[in-house]
Amino acid sequence: MQYTDRVLKELKERNPNEPEFHQAATEILEGLRPAVERHPEYERAALLERFVEPERVILFRVPWVDDGGNVHVNKGYRVQFNSAIGPYKGGLRFHPTVNLSVMKFLGLEQVLKNSLTGLPIGGGKGGSDFDPKGKSDMEVMRFCQSFMNELYRHIGQDFDVPAGDIGVGGREIGYLFGQYKRIRAEHAGVLTGRGLSYGGSLVRTEATGYGLVYMVEEALNCRGDSLKGKKVVISGSGNVALYACEKAQSLGAKVVAMYDSDGYVTDMGGIDLAIMKQIKEVERGRIREYAARKKGAEYHAGCRGIWGVPCDVALPCATQNEIDARSAELLVKNGVVCVGEGANMPTTLEGIEVFQRAGVVFLPAKAANAGGVATSALEMAQSSGRMYWSFTEVDAKLKQIMVNIYHNIDDAARLYGVEGNYVAGANIAGFLKVAEAMLAQGIV
Ligand code: NDP
Repeated sequence: MQYTDRVLKELKERNPNEPEFHQAATEILEGLRPAVERHPEYERAALLERFVEPERVILFRVPWVDDGGNVHVNKGYRVQFNSAIGPYKGGLRFHPTVNLSVMKFLGLEQVLKNSLTGLPIGGGKGGSDFDPKGKSDMEVMRFCQSFMNELYRHIGQDFDVPAGDIGVGGREIGYLFGQYKRIRAEHAGVLTGRGLSYGGSLVRTEATGYGLVYMVEEALNCRGDSLKGKKVVISGSGNVALYACEKAQSLGAKVVAMYDSDGYVTDMGGIDLAIMKQIKEVERGRIREYAARKKGAEYHAGCRGIWGVPCDVALPCATQNEIDARSAELLVKNGVVCVGEGANMPTTLEGIEVFQRAGVVFLPAKAANAGGVATSALEMAQSSGRMYWSFTEVDAKLKQIMVNIYHNIDDAARLYGVEGNYVAGANIAGFLKVAEAMLAQGIV
């Protein structure tokens, strides 16, 4: 049996009931095949076996008290996946769907994504099955404090630096940081995505969405095309989606549909971002309210239908497995030319195949959404240097990083005989650096 097949088989046997982890590992190891075949030394060093096993998994209890005095218990996780090229780095997700499988899939993806940024950061991920939706600020604060009461002993500015993800934005990072500082009595750059008044970086809020659009624009430019005049559909209406919308619009695209977990809105005249931000960022409301406020906009219950809205560019920016083969076929039939993944693993393996067969430019998450973590690394650099860079400076660095990533994955795909296959290109380009560092550091 071939090395890659054996590792995948053993991974599935040793980690049963972890479908998301199996899916991510399959996508990654399949993409790595051409590189693994050229490097027989990987098998001798059991490199793939070590690569798919997290260095450390921390599971903990998070008890907290709601406003009515009732006690609740959630699960807390931190998966410290790989520190070969730098301190563990990756977000915290608070969502009811969080479990070990989801944490491990995100952690493994993060290792390669962080490597692709070209910056010295290893990969990790964490979170909880706590749902911040519908909770008061004080409940969220008590939860975050309890979460940090355990997490603090496992993180550090040179060891493991968490950030936000689904359900963890500026408010949550503030509460987590406040508790860390109180326990450890140190004002350290131990979390990124901090507020600007206490060590955060300009552009961090916008980074993932902006970065995604910078990469899409570069991919189109390299084909003599651009976002100008393109119709764009964006799933989600959270941090990544809102800023992808902002940047796409600023480059002349028209965003015609967005969603939250209840349903989607279409607005053929183009989404009015000011109204959308007011509802989602300020009021923390539901997307159906957009249709009530914007003339000509329509609300449709349920999410999947959004992929039937005709568009040139699709940017899935909500969560994993949003686009299956059927949705992908619909997008292709309606003429999509480029799909950029803002969310992590939003397209199923079958969906990816549909896009690749149809010749759609498919930019996978670990490359396309790396702008967030890249800017987090820039935040770490500013923290260490005790300085702030201007918006223009950080934005220019972000854009350059995204353009570089695009060309790295494009070159890697060509070099390994799979031209235009950016899934393979991203996996290979990210992995080679991690593999080199792991080999240099011995069997650890
Ligand atoms: P937010 O919590 O800000 O927004 C998430 C959005 O997705 C919301 O609109 C939410 O709707 C929707 N959503 C979440 N889960 C589901 C679901 N199961 N079905 C339908 N809709 C859903 O998260 P972010 O914008 O930060 O993250 C979005 C994605 O981007 C995630 O995959 C994340 O891992 C990835 N990512 C984020 C980065 C960042 O910097 N923030 C960096 C790199 C990747 P509702 O409000 O109804 O829940």
